[in-house]
Amino acid sequence: MNIPVTDLPRVVIIGGGFGGVSLARHLEKKPFQVVMLDKRNYHTFQPLLYQVSTSGLEPDSIAYPIRKILKKNKDAYFRMAEVSHIDDKQQIVETNIGEVTYDYLVIATGSKTNFFGNKSVEENAIWMKTVPQALNLRSLILENFEEATFTKDPERRKALLNFVVAGAGPTGVELSGAIAELRKHVIPKDYQDINPEDIHIHLIEGMDRVLPPMSEKSSANAQKYLEDLGVEIHLNTFVKSYDDKIVKTNNEELSFHAETFIWSAGVTGAAIEGLKGEALMEKANRYNVNAFNQVEGYENIFAIGDIALMISEGFPKGHPMVAQPAIQQGEHLAKNLLRTLNKQKLLPFDYFDKGTMATVGRNKAVVDLDKIKFGGAFAWLVWMFVHLWFLVGFRNRIVTFFNWTYSYINYDRAARLIVRPFKAAKLKSPD
Ligand SMILES: Cc1cc2nc3c(=O)[nH]c(=O)nc-3n(C[C@H](O)[C@H](O)[C@H](O)COP(=O)(O)OP(=O)(O)OC[C@H]3O[C@@H](n4cnc5c(N)ncnc54)[C@H](O)[C@@H]3O)c2cc1C
Repeated sequence: MNIPVTDLPRVVIIGGGFGGVSLARHLEKKPFQVVMLDKRNYHTFQPLLYQVSTSGLEPDSIAYPIRKILKKNKDAYFRMAEVSHIDDKQQIVETNIGEVTYDYLVIATGSKTNFFGNKSVEENAIWMKTVPQALNLRSLILENFEEATFTKDPERRKALLNFVVAGAGPTGVELSGAIAELRKHVIPKDYQDINPEDIHIHLIEGMDRVLPPMSEKSSANAQKYLEDLGVEIHLNTFVKSYDDKIVKTNNEELSFHAETFIWSAGVTGAAIEGLKGEALMEKANRYNVNAFNQVEGYENIFAIGDIALMISEGFPKGHPMVAQPAIQQGEHLAKNLLRTLNKQKLLPFDYFDKGTMATVGRNKAVVDLDKIKFGGAFAWLVWMFVHLWFLVGFRNRIVTFFNWTYSYINYDRAARLIVRPFKAAKLKSPD
């Protein structure tokens, strides 16, 4: 891999997501050589992927080159590489471009889409974990609108204008709200040949409310905002299959003929082969870690973020798989790595829950803070501010802010481009 051997202990970080980037930044000017490996050469701000899928933002507003993130650290190296195996005996990480040895290894590989073994969904649905997948979805939505303008077959037209989303977590809620906004503001202006009332957006959820991880008040608010936008919500409903463009559910009377079926019903850890059996909690595909993020059975292998399962008081099933635990664990681990060098005792990680939020459409959101839960336009402003704040890169913040302001004033979605047709190419990009 052409990485120089120096006197500095080498920290290999697998994954340039929220956790990996936070750790690398906090290791700047510290006595370590940092080697970051990622299968992509950019960091993805996943919370805004749905805006790329629904033509609200260009992909380069929510992605940022990892090399630029590392540039302040002269002892940091990036290699675009997919890690396939860890050899814990020889302390080697194996990748598609070669091997690299480590003194300390940090696994920050995040998660991938979970289909819960449903093959028909995995083979035929579309989902959104990466920028290429978000672009695929953008193309699919727009290609369906285009075809609906001229198709004469009423059944096909119906399928083209049916959008079915499975999973009413933040991603499903935000996506359905954004598609409903397209129907409300863009279709009447730019697609005079489509009657907006012919477009149906169905949101399917297995639990008895939308946004199950949030408070009941926020769930109720989000449901109302979605219904006001005309999203048809089906609670206590499970998807059984998606074959021949038909979404079947556990309710025999509820099935949909839909060209667009978006799966946003769960994630599972993106684990890597090679560690001892007890290291992995197989059901969740996450690494069992102690309070110092050390993977069970190892002193110099750590896991942070979505891939880490840290059982602690208040979190019997581990931390939620969202950005903040990853960011905070990255920062905390940097301190602990330094303490290891100084032969000091490691400090346990203590998660500070900053709250949860989700947006529904152009000026509504719900926010759950520790004691306060609120929704509406103010919540939406808070949502916007927080997302701008955490976006990586000054340019991305400015461009995103400009785009949002433009869209807000003009009721428009500027990025409605089918740059890489999805249906013709049948592209599928892995997580
Ligand atoms: C659509 C969507 C919306 C979301 N919305 C929110 C939200 O609103 N708020 C919130 O807090 N959280 C949200 N999340 C969750 C949040 O993005 C994750 O919890 C967070 O990204 C976890 O950070 P991480 O560092 O653990 O992993 P990630 O940020 O996923 O980073 C993992 C990195 O590892 C790389 N990688 C994986 N496997 C390999 C390998 N074998 N070799 C090399 N590189 C590899 C990946 O390319 C990736 O860059 C959302 C997630 C998605 C998918």
